[in-house]
Amino acid sequence: MRGTLKKRFLALALSLLTICALTMPVFASPKIIYRHTGSSEKKRVALTFDDGPHPRYTPQILDILAEYGVEATFFTVGSNVEAYPKIIERVLAEGHEVGNHTYHHYHTTNVKGEVLTKDILECGHILKKHTGQVPHLFRPPEGVFNEEIKQLCEEQGYIIVMWSVDTRDWAHPAIEDICKNVRENVRDGSIILMHDFIGKNSPTPAALRRIIPMLQESGFEFVTVSRLLEG
Ligand SMILES: [Zn+2]
Repeated sequence: MRGTLKKRFLALALSLLTICALTMPVFASPKIIYRHTGSSEKKRVALTFDDGPHPRYTPQILDILAEYGVEATFFTVGSNVEAYPKIIERVLAEGHEVGNHTYHHYHTTNVKGEVLTKDILECGHILKKHTGQVPHLFRPPEGVFNEEIKQLCEEQGYIIVMWSVDTRDWAHPAIEDICKNVRENVRDGSIILMHDFIGKNSPTPAALRRIIPMLQESGFEFVTVSRLLEG
């Protein structure tokens, strides 16, 4: 008798749980990643380049990636994609991945929510137009995002991709400092932040030429962000 009551109680509890699960509102919860380790036996990292394409530096970076047979992810600015569509064609033709970094790259804290929303959607449209693919990775300018952006990313199916290693190439430090920054902070699953559009005298290509062999010698494999997530 006791056993039967217990079973009935359990069945009732399960039904209530099911009803709760079905009727609960779905809260916005986009995936936000900083670093990702999967089941791969190899140590893997994802190189990411923001703000391009740039007519001078993106081709230089692509040449270096090709030389070492390395794939990367480019978080592009929509207005630059429109200005240099041939470079984006090359990025994709060489096996790299492209993500959304907004259309204008506004300073996130300086614009209203609806302006930023429009800017994210606009970059998505431009990328679809020029690549034929709907982007699913989004990196917020300066890494700043709020609930509104999270909600939008959830609705649009974007994963918010942050980083775990900031090379600080954007501050134009010495090349050795960029390399040291990577060497001291890189781990399995790291997402490394670099830039292919940072104005004059970019240190990024020269630093990249040292970072790739340095990490390969330490046993790291380079993958796109999507492949990092698959693992
Ligand atoms: Zn940026």
